[in-house]
Amino acid sequence: MEQGIIEHLIEELTKLPGIGRKTAQRLAFFILTMSEEEAKGIARAIDEVKDKARFCKECFNITDSELCSICTSRSRDRSKLCVVEEPSNIIVIERTKYFHGLYHVLLGVLSPIDGMTPDKIKINELIERVKENEIKEVIIATNPNTKGEMTAQYIREILKPFDLEVTRIAYGLPIGGDIEFADEVTLSKALEGRREM
Ligand SMILES: [Zn+2]
Repeated sequence: MEQGIIEHLIEELTKLPGIGRKTAQRLAFFILTMSEEEAKGIARAIDEVKDKARFCKECFNITDSELCSICTSRSRDRSKLCVVEEPSNIIVIERTKYFHGLYHVLLGVLSPIDGMTPDKIKINELIERVKENEIKEVIIATNPNTKGEMTAQYIREILKPFDLEVTRIAYGLPIGGDIEFADEVTLSKALEGRREM
């Protein structure tokens, strides 16, 4: 077998995040042992996602049509909007099966130092949605770091004129964690988000 083609696959795989040279090598040789059907299934899925994926024109989730399956679903609570930074965040929240409202993906986070000003993310689109729909609650689920907090504060301010509730997801300690090992931010957020028991 020619060394070149497997080397090429290894090189391509190292372009993925978290995949170092060693892992890429292991994956490449694993792909080699897969059936043709299975291996080509992976290639086809990549091809399809690059070919068809686009942003939902309502919430900016990833979809293959004009609107995503969440926006078109008739079983979702249309009075609640959960604001997230990236489409991948939706998958995580959906897995909890706790939230049944709609989403709004910002496609980024505020960070003026990197040129990420409010016009660079989907904040105007969020205001339009709030204006045009009967939304009663906006849940801000940006990441619990400096940029995510700043973005949450900004959204809270711009939504003040509207008659709706703006909430922020509470952060706590990871289940099974130990207070001793929690960092200050996590612990102070956990205290802040305390509730009656
Ligand atoms: Zn959508």
